Amino acid sequence: MGGVKVGAGAAVSIQSMTKVETSNVSAVVSQIKRLKNAGCEIIRVAVKTQVDARAIKDIKKKIDIPLVADIHFDYRLALESIKSGADKIRLNPGNLKNRGEVEQVAKAAGKAGIPIRIGINSGSIFTNDERRLSAEAKKAKAEMTNDARIDTFVKSAMRYVKHFEELGFHDIIISLKGSNVSETVEAYKKISGLCDYPLHLGVTASGPYDTGIVKSSIGIGALLLDGIGDTIRVSLTADPVEEVVAAKRILSSLGLRRFGPEIISCPTCGRCQVDLQHIVEELDNKLSTINYELSTKAPITVAVMGCEVNGPGEAREADIGIAFGRGSGMLFKKGKVVKKVTAKDAVKELLAVIASPATI
Ligand code: SF4
Repeated sequence: MGGVKVGAGAAVSIQSMTKVETSNVSAVVSQIKRLKNAGCEIIRVAVKTQVDARAIKDIKKKIDIPLVADIHFDYRLALESIKSGADKIRLNPGNLKNRGEVEQVAKAAGKAGIPIRIGINSGSIFTNDERRLSAEAKKAKAEMTNDARIDTFVKSAMRYVKHFEELGFHDIIISLKGSNVSETVEAYKKISGLCDYPLHLGVTASGPYDTGIVKSSIGIGALLLDGIGDTIRVSLTADPVEEVVAAKRILSSLGLRRFGPEIISCPTCGRCQVDLQHIVEELDNKLSTINYELSTKAPITVAVMGCEVNGPGEAREADIGIAFGRGSGMLFKKGKVVKKVTAKDAVKELLAVIASPATI
């Protein structure tokens, strides 16, 4: 997709979505540049009007990562987005069901050689708006077991997939996002056994920053650990850069990708005699400013430990590390003590080593 491989064993890619009006080209472009800088590899924009769809043409001229047009309700927005050069279309089967309309989108995407994501959300399958339900539907909904919900969720995605296959369109990516972590995980597991299309992982409407990170890490992480998932988007009610940072942390925690120096630090306890929290925060802040491209070339593990009890052991397993004592610490490189450093100079000393990885 626009130069980024998704599926068939390619590295799990990181996506995010812009959070400004798509028609505001300069605001969108500046947000995409910030996101790319943070490590975003695929960007999605909401297309709610024809003006948004046409803006894609101008946005594309100013960015260099693939752009996905997010379409709900109106197939004509997908057609216009394809004309504007979108690299992928996301359709929601919950609100775009007309077969003739879907066929037109599939034809246009096929001609343009771009994929379509079948992006199904539990919210569009199981409406929370009770007023829109008949008495029988309300009763059926109330009596539905979790398994039945997941089954309905997956079946509705597979029906859509089949429709595209009947049209001869196979360049498909699927997502099945629920706001409930276990429902999402089960749905993805189920669909991964039913077809072999690449899967876009995410937990939708995951909530405020902290809660969202926990829910996304559990949901996305559980699936990735099982070898399921080809591209991920962490959804947070926060600056989209935070979504990218969280996605990178999920992938590096699982050892699937490395983005730069990884800090291993102890939680501290009564034995710690330096302000370790402050030292680690300062190191983390400084490392996050390292250029993304450069940092991918330096997958270093840095241990920062509060005392000698577990400290040197952990520090030795890392590429470099410091185990502190009273006001100072021992700097290790590949298990060998290099020198004694003061707590005050610890960050500076570690950064100097990280800056010249060849010396490790
Ligand atoms: S390394 Fe030392 S200070 Fe850190 S948690 Fe373990 S015992 Fe406590």
